[in-house]
Amino acid sequence: MIALEKYIRDIPDFPKPGVVFKDITPLLASPEAMDLCVQELLRLTEMQSIDKVVGIESRGFFFATLMAKELKAGFVPIRKPGKLPFETLKQPYTLEYGMDALEIHEDAIQKGDKVLLHDDVLATGGTAQAACKLIEKLGGEIVQCNFLIELEFLKGASKLQRYEHRALLTY
Ligand code: IMP
Repeated sequence: MIALEKYIRDIPDFPKPGVVFKDITPLLASPEAMDLCVQELLRLTEMQSIDKVVGIESRGFFFATLMAKELKAGFVPIRKPGKLPFETLKQPYTLEYGMDALEIHEDAIQKGDKVLLHDDVLATGGTAQAACKLIEKLGGEIVQCNFLIELEFLKGASKLQRYEHRALLTY
């Protein structure tokens, strides 16, 4: 079996000095690695019944859509402000320095929908926590948050204690 770690590249000092960025583009460029990655992410979900797979802009979209297809679920994007064309709900969140926000279409999730949230990387957890709040405001039930990569030393899991969270690779 191929090792997915081989397809993730460390980029020092990106996007700013002191940060080592996990670059998943080599993984996306390999059909074998992508296929394995989808299968492994689906294994994490234990193929539970899911109505919507929610992906976070932008790198969360890749595997969220691929999982949605396999799970016969819908795909829902969560995006940065001003990108979604229809009526939206907005959730601000705190970054290391400053604030940002995420948006979701207000009709994207129905009350009681079982939701799988996916993003490529769990770092400090602020992004995933804001996404969970949006899903719950629309009445969605979060079955699991899953990630390709968890940067454990940044303790993002502490912000997701209320949810089941899984990651394929931890650093
Ligand atoms: P958090 O809010 O600090 O958990 O940051 C998570 C968000 O930042 C995710 O949407 C990731 O795509 C992005 N991110 C943080 N660190 C990395 C990285 O090393 N590689 C790729 N994306 C990252």
